Amino acid sequence: MISNKLVVIAAFNLPFEAHIAKVQLEAADIPSFIADEHMGGLQYYANAIGGVRLLVPRNAMRAAHEALANDFQQYLEELPDPVHCRQCGSENTAPDTQNKFPALITLLLLGVPLLFPKVGMSCEDCQHFESN
Ligand SMILES: [Zn+2]
Repeated sequence: MISNKLVVIAAFNLPFEAHIAKVQLEAADIPSFIADEHMGGLQYYANAIGGVRLLVPRNAMRAAHEALANDFQQYLEELPDPVHCRQCGSENTAPDTQNKFPALITLLLLGVPLLFPKVGMSCEDCQHFESN
């Protein structure tokens, strides 16, 4: 006798991650169920109970593993060229936002945004910031 008991196929920290995986399984005609979804919003509890769990019937486990292993890499665009720091030439740069906290404080205290966050790029090596 084949058991159709539900088994945990994956666990996620956030409910939307479980939903993305569920859609992947649906595309492969594999029934799946999300458990503990509403606990997932409460990060501490979600981690304590093993996250948001995705379940499938035991007899679909192998097919589900294969469906989830497909990471849809072919649909992604290639990564853009790294942004070089204008000050030191390093490729070790990352998107950054400055003045977030002071802008939030002035907005909360005064009710008007006197400062605005600056969106740009920071160099990890020389700390140079350049706004967009
Ligand atoms: Zn630099």
